[in-house]
Amino acid sequence: MILSESIEDYLKAIYALKKEVGKVVTTQLAERLEVKPASVTGMVRKLAQMKLVTYKPYQGVALTKSGRKIALEVIRHHRLLELYLSEVMGLPWDKVHIEAEKLEHALSEELEERIDELLGFPTTDPHGAPIPSKDGKVAEHSSDRLVDVQVGQEVLISEVKDDDSELLRYAGELGLFPGESVQVENIAPYKGPITLKTKHKKIIVGREAAKQILVNKISA
Ligand SMILES: [Zn+2]
Repeated sequence: MILSESIEDYLKAIYALKKEVGKVVTTQLAERLEVKPASVTGMVRKLAQMKLVTYKPYQGVALTKSGRKIALEVIRHHRLLELYLSEVMGLPWDKVHIEAEKLEHALSEELEERIDELLGFPTTDPHGAPIPSKDGKVAEHSSDRLVDVQVGQEVLISEVKDDDSELLRYAGELGLFPGESVQVENIAPYKGPITLKTKHKKIIVGREAAKQILVNKISA
């Protein structure tokens, strides 16, 4: 089945929203895809006819098994390409997402396999997000956010949101990369910044940015 880029983008957006908010409604989809709500309704009907989603008013949009399979395939392309662009071509981590957004639709299965092999069958992309396997399995990690971590708690940074270049540059300048462990030393009152301690230094990070950084807890 040859699918248009826009169909692939819809399926990907539904997958991401489902993970973030649980129930996917068309107004959220419109916002995410930056299109008018009316065109979302039309497309969702089309996707339902193609048996890629189910849609009932008030219950939201959900991927069918085949819809999910396509979404994960496109996400696999996207994340492999991001890693390739960063590791092999040396692009900074705040520049790879926008390139991968375009290339993901064009990547052939053959090239996908070659890239996977060349990179040593990686499991995460440069931002820490899991790369779905060829047979559509994905090891989702915790969705705990840095902003919700208590004072004294030590955490391992697992993922920085990939679609905001400014955030990625900011996190990169602070040294907040996936795999880094940090301890929350102080949380300033009145929505003030968070002070983190690493082995070598202190890092002060804004709370809005800390909402976009995912972590795994290390100690209690
Ligand atoms: Zn990306």
